[in-house]
Amino acid sequence: MTSVALPEAFCAQMIDLLGSDEAQELFTALEQPSPVSIRLNRRKHTPQMLEAGQPIAWSPLGRYLTERPSFVGDPLWHSGAYYVQEASSMILSLIAPLMPQRSLNALDLCAAPGGKSTLLLDLLPEASLLVSNEVVRTRAHILQENLLKWGHPSTIVTHVMPEALGRLTSAFDLILVDAPCSGEGMFRKDHEARSEWSPEAVLHCASRQRSILNDIWPSLAPGGLMIYSTCTMNLEENEHMLHYITSTLGGEALSLLQLPEGIEPSPYSQEPCYRMMPHRVSGEGLFMAIIRKGEGGKVSDGLSNTKRRRPRGKASAKGGREGQALTTMSAIHSWLQRGADRHWGQSREGELFALEEAHWPMLERLEAEGIHPLTSGIPVAILKGRDLIPHPALAHSTELAPKAFEEVELTRLGAIRYLAGEAITLPLDLPVGWYIVCYEGNRLGFVKHLGRRSNNHYPAPWRIRQPQPLYQRLGAMPDILEP
Ligand code: SAM
Repeated sequence: MTSVALPEAFCAQMIDLLGSDEAQELFTALEQPSPVSIRLNRRKHTPQMLEAGQPIAWSPLGRYLTERPSFVGDPLWHSGAYYVQEASSMILSLIAPLMPQRSLNALDLCAAPGGKSTLLLDLLPEASLLVSNEVVRTRAHILQENLLKWGHPSTIVTHVMPEALGRLTSAFDLILVDAPCSGEGMFRKDHEARSEWSPEAVLHCASRQRSILNDIWPSLAPGGLMIYSTCTMNLEENEHMLHYITSTLGGEALSLLQLPEGIEPSPYSQEPCYRMMPHRVSGEGLFMAIIRKGEGGKVSDGLSNTKRRRPRGKASAKGGREGQALTTMSAIHSWLQRGADRHWGQSREGELFALEEAHWPMLERLEAEGIHPLTSGIPVAILKGRDLIPHPALAHSTELAPKAFEEVELTRLGAIRYLAGEAITLPLDLPVGWYIVCYEGNRLGFVKHLGRRSNNHYPAPWRIRQPQPLYQRLGAMPDILEP
């Protein structure tokens, strides 16, 4: 990383805010190496993974690592067993006791690459739904990949501007706005953020944040929670923005119920809100506020009166037109736990997906507003002519039926080769058909075994590019299957 000096105007701003002694502590911390941390997947981690690293006080599944390993070279990372996330962001874990303990419709509005969405999925009460949105197309695809690998069944991924989702009046019980910001909290990790920063950029970001908040506020149900966060440290984008929400939009800031040592409410606001500062905690700079929208008016669940739409075409679980369709559907029902109880649909791209019955009205409401999700629930299969191809995401789903596919364990080198898209040869005596390849029991994806050879069905955009250095590090081991 090329070193870039902290911008002078930023230093002056922080001296103004913190006083010169504390500001100096901050500047010193910003020149230290960033801590490395991961968060384990609640539904996928093993007891052994819990022993890795030092626990993070504010996030039960967060761990500090002593060094930065090659995550790309770790098949467990590709399997969605953990997410690489900087520790301060995990403060979101502390909102759990403030959430109503019933199934919630949640929205993560600015979600890519998916750190906070994956955390929310692990925090939300059972049977909740998360709509995870990203406005930048390339980033939306990365978000989609990360969420499919996380494997949670009740996720919808969208790619629209906030105002489109804002039209879903009172649809969400919880909205996370992890706003695009001037990124001062990332000055240690990302020196490019230092070069892009200016006082004008701060004002521009604040104005964009106000417009995002105005656009999305109508879709928060009365009594619902908004989490507003940034990874920056100035007042304009943080405490002042919280004040804008409470005074102009009409919300009440809530206090966290438990504060681990070292985390204190911000001293720069009359209303409760929280700052993670790099010289105070082992993590980057972050701001978070929790706001409850005033009651009055109708509470969420404006969804139940929307009309039910039948799934399209041959995928229809109920009322398929041909015998072929029914056979197809009963085959794929058996690939999921409770497959026959789920609502099945077909995406515009022809993917067959399954969503909880209770979440279907949200999908219909999105589509009624012209919002066509990139992912809805669990993508299960792709129908190609008369063939049913298991969807790559199915291998990662926590809802995959235990005996739906035979699993084949790979060595680490074999796993890396598979993840790089190379051909994998399965034992010749295995019957032809679909198999899931695993590493240390964690599922990576599908191969189609054809007898003398097998086809690698790991999706091209997910593949490890330039794996040669990894091969060299692992040695030229000839075996790729577990003995
Ligand atoms: N929540 C993410 C996570 O934890 O991985 C990080 C989100 S990042 C701080 C902010 C995101 O907002 C970026 O992905 C950016 O593309 C998106 N964004 C940019 N402009 C936006 C806008 N006008 N409305 C909504 N989101 C926007």
